[in-house]
Amino acid sequence: MKIAVLPGDGIGPEVVEQAVKVLRILALDGLPIEMDYAAIGGAGYDEVGDPLPENTLALARAADAVLLGAVGGPRYDALERPLRPEQGLLRIRKELNLFANLRPVRVYPELAGASTLRPEVVTGLDLMIVRELTGDLYFGQPRGIHINADGEREGYNTMRYAESEVRRVAHIGFQIAMKRSKKLCSVEKANVLETSELWREVVIETARDYPDVALSHMYVDNAAMQLVRHPKQFDVILTGNIFGDILSDEASMLTGSIGMLGSASLDAASKGMYEPIHGSAPDIAGQDSANPLATILSAAMMMRYTFGQDEAADRIERAVSTVITQGLRTQDIHTPGHQRVGCAAMGDAVVAAL
Ligand code: NAD
Repeated sequence: MKIAVLPGDGIGPEVVEQAVKVLRILALDGLPIEMDYAAIGGAGYDEVGDPLPENTLALARAADAVLLGAVGGPRYDALERPLRPEQGLLRIRKELNLFANLRPVRVYPELAGASTLRPEVVTGLDLMIVRELTGDLYFGQPRGIHINADGEREGYNTMRYAESEVRRVAHIGFQIAMKRSKKLCSVEKANVLETSELWREVVIETARDYPDVALSHMYVDNAAMQLVRHPKQFDVILTGNIFGDILSDEASMLTGSIGMLGSASLDAASKGMYEPIHGSAPDIAGQDSANPLATILSAAMMMRYTFGQDEAADRIERAVSTVITQGLRTQDIHTPGHQRVGCAAMGDAVVAAL
């Protein structure tokens, strides 16, 4: 179980260290885990002038899974675009062909009060968004800004999906649905967009391989509304790159804290990159106050989706639930009456619960 550990910038190294502690416990308990470190983002730029250094990419390619912290920081904002930390992240996703992005959205009963929605709307919420990550408007050609026939500037991007791109991410969505409550909702805009019409056709074709999964379809505008009206109606949501970008951010806020949510980005062979959904949080970096649970939960996803170690994944998730139940809170999820702890102490508590 070769893991490339890329801590990155800001709070990245602090939160990754806590997940590494957890992985070391699993190694002590017998899993053949090997971890190697490399720089990415601003750290890569500082080391060799490249946000994705060659040796980092080589290490990631040779590994079975990548554990990533976060990249970016104000120090790098003035660099030209190809040298910025965020480009390192986009490039590694593309280079490793990580086309399926999984974002679980789970509300811990004790944290339901942290949501901006009423507790009864979100308590018990547990859904999974499967977002296509390497196609759609973000990569489609042609794109650009030109002067049009009327002599004014015009911007354009192309929404484009080949059926093979839809099929491979649909398979991942259905396979995940099979492991959960066998319900999948495909979200697009087939009433208006041809790309979505094809998306829907291919999803229906793919569904024939998964007769046990109940498939439904929803237009993206309705899905955006339903996510705040009655989010518990969903289990797995399958969607394209741009719709998924927006819906997954909306859904993450149902839980109230960005510091609790992990993610996975997978290729066709279930190799994956695992990272918290938050950024490098320069405002709290180096203060030992970041919430490491999103990164620890990302390590649990790694056990489940790349290594097929469901039991190890369950153990980590149970340990996280235990520390929440014990009342331990980092500052982002702290409410009166609970014990406030730092990043390292939270990591230690999860290790103790393990
Ligand atoms: P951010 O997610 O870093 O921070 C947003 C807010 O949430 C901040 O107030 C921060 O303190 C808080 N926060 C984030 N993670 C937290 C945690 N684990 N525990 C407690 N509080 C937490 O987003 P931003 O401020 O918009 O961006 C900061 C930098 O991160 C930028 O350079 C941006 O480009 C980069 N970024 C990177 C990624 C990534 O690496 N995947 C994602 C988003 C942003």
